Amino acid sequence: MNASSDTIFALSSGRPPAAIAVVRVSGPQAGAALEALIGKIPEPRRAALARLRDPDNQEIIDEGLALWFPGPRSETGEDTAELQLHGGRAVIASVLAALGRIEGCRLAEAGEFTRRAFENGRLDLTRVEGLADLIGAETEAQRRQAFRQMRGLLGDRAEAWRTAIIEALALVEARIDFPDEGDVPEDLIRPALVRAKELRDEITQALADQRRGERLREGLVVAIAGPPNAGKSSLLNRLARRDAAIVSPLAGTTRDVIEVHLDLDGFPVTLLDTAGIRDSLDPVEQEGVRRARERAGGADLVLWVMDASTGGEIPGDAIAQEFPNNAKWIIWNKTDLVSTLRIKSLRSIIHKIEYPSYFISALDDSGFDEFMPALVNHARTFLGSTEPALVTRDRHRRALASALGALDRALQERPPIREEVLAEELRLAATALGRLVGRVDVEDILDVIFRDFCIGK
Ligand code: GDP
Repeated sequence: MNASSDTIFALSSGRPPAAIAVVRVSGPQAGAALEALIGKIPEPRRAALARLRDPDNQEIIDEGLALWFPGPRSETGEDTAELQLHGGRAVIASVLAALGRIEGCRLAEAGEFTRRAFENGRLDLTRVEGLADLIGAETEAQRRQAFRQMRGLLGDRAEAWRTAIIEALALVEARIDFPDEGDVPEDLIRPALVRAKELRDEITQALADQRRGERLREGLVVAIAGPPNAGKSSLLNRLARRDAAIVSPLAGTTRDVIEVHLDLDGFPVTLLDTAGIRDSLDPVEQEGVRRARERAGGADLVLWVMDASTGGEIPGDAIAQEFPNNAKWIIWNKTDLVSTLRIKSLRSIIHKIEYPSYFISALDDSGFDEFMPALVNHARTFLGSTEPALVTRDRHRRALASALGALDRALQERPPIREEVLAEELRLAATALGRLVGRVDVEDILDVIFRDFCIGK
């Protein structure tokens, strides 16, 4: 895995026009690119005022700051240059075009800077994922978790586990290599087994986290469901405080699943409007219904909206049938249309059903002072706000489970212990952890991981 000999460049800041644009260059020609554009190489890691010229005709393009990070002490591990310019489209186009004319320089692909950092050993794979999550983080809780991961919370731990397994493996292999050294056998195998057991316990503990980390990455998924016209879209809009869904007096206008991302007191919540869930003969609508059902079926919480003004039976069985595996709340909407007496009588019957109930009006906002704190509380409990999770992706979980399986099998060996079996299982455990941090055998997963990155990162 050597760094490619190409020098790459890209606009690393956001979409122009903007006050400032950051253009990064990484690779063996980064220094030459600086020479060509600003006529000098600044002191390492120090911002220098620079006048950028078109290398072909020496016309000034812009004035800005230039930074020089010689490898390997740079983000990518290669020679890296960074230009901070005015963020106008023409400025950026002109600088990128000038860079493109320099021998050996080309535009970077999505995630290529980070990929080089990984390939040069500057970041392990869990840190790369943490970085991707940090860029994607929408709430405080997600940002914190991503930042920890980027700083190596899981990566360092996995690396330490891997080292310990390799040490245990070395003991077993020593035993295999020198079977006849009378006084060593048990002294080699026993400490190897003790270490394997410690590791098994630690990994087991890391995995017993109720998927906290993955949950926080994905957010609490809340489906809004219920009969047509109950006010599902209105509730979604009220929660999102913007017109995300079509609110219409006609039944069945919201055909697809509408998804809104919310920041609820620092916790990420994805709201799904499933207003389209109702039986229909129209094939287009049927497909919408199918998708809505599928998506809502996986929700962590279902808000079943009822029209309090039309009354009707509480369809407890229907709700349970439709959402067998989800937490469910009943939201009585349109309380502005009904008398306090009716609300009282509704309240008196709801204790018979097992779901928490809330009385609101999406129109005049009443009832939200009770409903919203309950929702925030639910998100906090569900996503867990206390201990940081080591495992934040399914990939991590699978790698750890695979290491754990190998350790389990290793520890099932009873005297007379088959040393070859023990060594092989330890090797498998080390490989699983090596894959987790990206040390071994990961070519097949890299494209998936770096696909999430934008160009310039
Ligand atoms: P959906 O089909 O369940 O998504 O229902 P909508 O949100 O489209 O609402 C259906 C109709 O009920 C619309 O005309 C809304 O303006 C109205 N509506 C929704 N919530 C309330 C409410 O709290 N009070 C009153 N009076 N009308 C509401």
